[in-house]
Amino acid sequence: MAESNRGGRLSLTVKLPLFIGSLLVVTVVVYSYVSYARVRRSALGLAGNRIGAVTDQLAALFKQSGSTLIRGTRQVADTDIVTRFLTNPTDRNRAAVTMLLRPNTTAGKQVASAQVFDARRRLIAVTGDSAALRTATAATSDLIAGLTAEDSGVVSRFLAVGDSVIYASASPSVSNGRVLGYLVMWRYLANPPARRQLSELIGTDSRFYIGNVGDNVWSDFSRPMDPPPVAVAGDTSILHYSRGGAEGGALIATARSIQGVPWIVLVEFPEARVLAPAAAFLRDSLLIGAAILALGLIVAWWASRQLTGPLVHLTRTAEELAGRGSSSRGGEPEGDEIARLTTVFESMVAHVRESQRELELRVKTRTNELQERNEELESFAYSISHDLRAPLRAMDGFSQALLEEYGDKLDSTGRQYAERVKAGARRMDLLIRDLLAYSKMTRGDIKVGPLELDRVVRGALDQVEGDARARGARVVVEDDMPRVQGHESTLTQVLMNLIANGIKFVPAGRTPEVRVRTEGRDGVVRLWVMDNGIGIPPEYHERIFRVFERLHRTDEYPGTGIGLAIVRKGVERMGGRVGLESEADRGTSFWIDLPLAVDQPPARAAVAP
Ligand code: ADP
Repeated sequence: MAESNRGGRLSLTVKLPLFIGSLLVVTVVVYSYVSYARVRRSALGLAGNRIGAVTDQLAALFKQSGSTLIRGTRQVADTDIVTRFLTNPTDRNRAAVTMLLRPNTTAGKQVASAQVFDARRRLIAVTGDSAALRTATAATSDLIAGLTAEDSGVVSRFLAVGDSVIYASASPSVSNGRVLGYLVMWRYLANPPARRQLSELIGTDSRFYIGNVGDNVWSDFSRPMDPPPVAVAGDTSILHYSRGGAEGGALIATARSIQGVPWIVLVEFPEARVLAPAAAFLRDSLLIGAAILALGLIVAWWASRQLTGPLVHLTRTAEELAGRGSSSRGGEPEGDEIARLTTVFESMVAHVRESQRELELRVKTRTNELQERNEELESFAYSISHDLRAPLRAMDGFSQALLEEYGDKLDSTGRQYAERVKAGARRMDLLIRDLLAYSKMTRGDIKVGPLELDRVVRGALDQVEGDARARGARVVVEDDMPRVQGHESTLTQVLMNLIANGIKFVPAGRTPEVRVRTEGRDGVVRLWVMDNGIGIPPEYHERIFRVFERLHRTDEYPGTGIGLAIVRKGVERMGGRVGLESEADRGTSFWIDLPLAVDQPPARAAVAP
């Protein structure tokens, strides 16, 4: 990780894993959170349904208890003891009633106190807990105010008295359809066995409360309790709150009004219990996420090393090449490898463009110079060659004159010398003539146009006819040759040289045979000049086209070694190509490729050989 933090700039080797790591973290966190939220919502929904059902059951149970309570009170109110006292409130009858209604009798189970009112709602007898009664007096008159002979009774709201909660049931005492009076029985809301049974019914984690509709008196069936921290309506909504304190923690709760009584029942369930599976799910998915993250980071680091290794190497090499690496400049290169590579690449491109421009300019200048030199050289060679011929002619002429006029005065050695001078002059003249021809071929304008091959070949044959006849050669020319693009005198010269060689390079005793024919393909005409001569070894196929390159001594096969150089130059200047195939002692076939004449109908191009 040496490259990880050069000058505070992060390398790709670190950037890539960081990027992939961040991506994984975001993915894991988002995925876990979204899944957790869903699991949580569905767990809460399920718990809400369950707790709702439990609350419904409790409400039904309490409704039933309410009716039972009223029925019980009414039964007591209708007993003979009570009706007798109400009809005839003597001390004896009062004592009987007080006896009947004293707390903890069967009839007055959990009864805190009982009150008997006459038909005009005046209190005529009291039993039980006077402290509870003091608080209850105002509530009592409200309770019995609306009772008629048709009513079986009512149940009061809860009242908090000290550390108890009390409630009353009131019934009219009726005889022959007439209200004799009213019986009100106050009870403590404290029933440990019932509480235990209900707790078992709703589950140990749940708690239930009972309270008044619309005020803050609540009890858990044993003592007054703090009201829930939110307004509780007896509807089906699911409540979420926390009670704070030691038992704090979020709760979900539902409340139901109880029919027939002014009470409301509330069931609470700790949210932590509901959400335990969701929390476990979140913990598990975060753990799995962390494992994936660790694995992802390792893989990303490894992959990034594999990927960026060559890139880092390339960047360094490129920086070194461009002479802008950290070592060469002392300063740190900017950015990561890609940014550095881009910078280096741009500067390299600029360099290359600049160099290219310079190079093009230099090539142009050099080419112009070279062309000028060449032209100078050629004209110099031409004039030299030209000028050389005059003294040569003098040498030839005077050696001839020497032989003719002074021949008899010379001995045989002197004559031989004079012959040699003459022969040398002639050979030199020949060389110069050929050189001039070559020089001419390289200079001057060559305008290419359509040519009748038949005519050009015949013209060349006329030129070599003397030679052919002297050697007894047979020259066969194919009929109906196509038209090609060329330059007439150049092509004539080229064909002359090739046919002359075909006649010349034949072993003594063999009749020279030369064949000229064409073949055409793809708009190109290949013109063959084939002989039955000595052949040319493959290693010389290229060399023989150079000036003065000869494979034989002049006394064997005379010549200057310029003929094929002229052939190649001429063919090239017409835009064609030249080459050969050869077999030792069987003959050589030179070919020339020239474009088919532009006005040539294509059908004629494919002339059979
Ligand atoms: P020259 O004919 O004056 O010697 P050329 O340039 O025409 O010069 O040919 C160069 C050499 O190529 C010749 O000296 C000869 O050795 C060889 N050569 C050319 N044409 C033929 C041929 N048709 N058959 C065999 N050898 C050839």
